[in-house]
Amino acid sequence: MEAPFPPAWEEILQHNVTHYLLLTDTERAHLRKLIQVFIVEKRWEGCGGLILNDEIRVTISAQACLLILGIPHNYYENVESIIVYPSTVIPPEYKPGFFENVLEPIELSHPIVGQAFKQGEIILVWDAALHDSLHPELGYNVVYHEFAHKLDMLDGAADGTPPLSNRKEYHHWVKICSRAYLNLCREVDKGKNTFLDAYGALNEAEFFAVATEHFFARPREMKSRMTDLYRVLQEYYRQDPARREGRNNRHV
Ligand SMILES: [Zn+2]
Repeated sequence: MEAPFPPAWEEILQHNVTHYLLLTDTERAHLRKLIQVFIVEKRWEGCGGLILNDEIRVTISAQACLLILGIPHNYYENVESIIVYPSTVIPPEYKPGFFENVLEPIELSHPIVGQAFKQGEIILVWDAALHDSLHPELGYNVVYHEFAHKLDMLDGAADGTPPLSNRKEYHHWVKICSRAYLNLCREVDKGKNTFLDAYGALNEAEFFAVATEHFFARPREMKSRMTDLYRVLQEYYRQDPARREGRNNRHV
């Protein structure tokens, strides 16, 4: 932690991590410290022919560490390794043998841009991680999404509720999140266009991950459209990205 932050890494942050530009000098310094520890503590693995480099490690670490900038943390103790593929991973399709009786339709292979496992691995796709970092206005962010799952899993359960500080906070969390989740499910059922991605209606864990993406990527819009949910996340993350975004917009 005593080592100075490499100037080349600072350049990567300035180029690749849009949210970094919204931070105050103090927040930037804090984030840089987290990145330095995070990069060394985790096992990084390139897959599918990807050769890992500092650009990849710094860009991913910055987004992961942004989530824990305000909360007590242990550098995602439940993340041991980060496995990075160059681009969207499509799992191989299952092909039945000639005489095999296929009773159920074979599930189509879904493209994967990220996955968080309970065992301590995170799979990410580099082109998506970089694209989302550069384009917060789209509201998607695979790194926020997968690391939000890991925060959720810190108490052992992927149920959409990360560990909170007291009963009152739990009570409030459940009340606000349940209401917002059920609303999203209803709107998705009706085929309406929703602010949060429809994927969040899959279950409570996905709801928290998708809400986290929007909280950091499109905070001002989220605050005005889903104020209660925004405030609950603000309390949990102990950050106010909407204020950050507003402050920055005044300067440009
Ligand atoms: Zn997910």
